[in-house]
Amino acid sequence: MEEKRKIVIGNANIMTLGESNRFIKDGAVYVENGIIKDIGHTVEISDKYPGSDFEDMRGLLMLPGNIIAHTHLYSSLARGMGLKDDAPSNFVEILERLWWRLDKVLTEEDNYYSAMVALLQCIRYGTTTIIDHHASPGAIGGSLDVLARAVFESGIRASLCYEVTDRGGEEEAIAGIKENVRFMKKCRQYPTSFVRGAFGIHASFTASDETLKKCLKEIEGLDNVVFHLHVEEDMADRIDSEEKYGVPVLFRLKNMGVTKHPVLAIHCVNIREDEIDILESEKILVVHNPESNMNNAVGVAPVLEMMDRGVTVGLGTDGMTADYFQEMKVLPLLHKIHSGDPRTYSFDRLYQTIFLNNPKICKHFWKDASLGAIEPGAYADLIGLDYIPPTPLNADNFLGHCLFGMNSSMIDTTIVNGQLLMKKRKILHLDEERIFARSRELASKLWKRF
Ligand SMILES: [Zn+2]
Repeated sequence: MEEKRKIVIGNANIMTLGESNRFIKDGAVYVENGIIKDIGHTVEISDKYPGSDFEDMRGLLMLPGNIIAHTHLYSSLARGMGLKDDAPSNFVEILERLWWRLDKVLTEEDNYYSAMVALLQCIRYGTTTIIDHHASPGAIGGSLDVLARAVFESGIRASLCYEVTDRGGEEEAIAGIKENVRFMKKCRQYPTSFVRGAFGIHASFTASDETLKKCLKEIEGLDNVVFHLHVEEDMADRIDSEEKYGVPVLFRLKNMGVTKHPVLAIHCVNIREDEIDILESEKILVVHNPESNMNNAVGVAPVLEMMDRGVTVGLGTDGMTADYFQEMKVLPLLHKIHSGDPRTYSFDRLYQTIFLNNPKICKHFWKDASLGAIEPGAYADLIGLDYIPPTPLNADNFLGHCLFGMNSSMIDTTIVNGQLLMKKRKILHLDEERIFARSRELASKLWKRF
């Protein structure tokens, strides 16, 4: 769905976000080939680009689309599902009794609908870019093509990868490696601005040295490979690495040569203090998922300590939700209650985590245009909120309005690459009811196989 037309998107109150946030009342952007070329007041931009199409934002508050830096499209069909065993009492039991039982029985069609359901919710909630981490051991080969088809049909952007793991034996580990490499090469051969490939690994405690060596061997000669894996989400991951390899996970990844490549280290909840040195020196990108960490009771990641040392920490949802507004609200609450000090997580730090660092992470995948700010040279990924501020709203106090006043139900319009996906809360290009009906059918079958 590459958009070629020239379009002015106007009559919007624009909050540009980005490094130098600006508020433009009655503003407009001029978009060419899906990329913002100009920004200003509606009258000025309309006069400057006559003959362009005009999209009327009807006074909505326009923001750049939200970015979720870590999620799992495959988890959608688990919603409301009962477990077969007693409630898990720790993180490893959560994996064994829920996620590793679920992902094993996912079929290709489950993968497609699980993705579609989540992507539709992204559009509804104003999320226009996601970085996904996929697992379906019963359907590995071609699984990323299935997700890519759903992503193309949805019209949003995604980075996709397969979680390599040893838990199903050597053959499955190799199949995962091949799927990552195949898909990355395919994405490079047919460049599109919507889908990007990465190299997924589940986590250190499910990947032996032999498997990590095979991963590194398979990408020899390929540049710009980004690794995407869970790191010390639970103490079990760190203990496993210390017992088997004599060092915690980040030391192990460095010793193995993984960190010569860009790494997206998800969670880093139970890292040792000296591992922050490695995050810093190796320029590892961290993604924090506060809701998921609270739900799994794995602990509180020392993200402020990391950020003080210059580590890039972004925000993900770990498949808990497609609603970034919800995740951003939970972020300071977790850290305030944990520290017992309401000053914890200043607005500057929050703005950096919520709005600046995810676009920075995305630069590793999307190099042709920027994301996360309404500015010339950025993709025209825009959302319109039906938000009437009850107090003065400006660029300086935006975060206060955002955290305490805005929510995803206010999203009226979602635009990606200059293309309207939702307007007046109606999804324009997909049959939402049919997709949800089929996903319910597939979920009830899946629950029986689970
Ligand atoms: Zn995850």
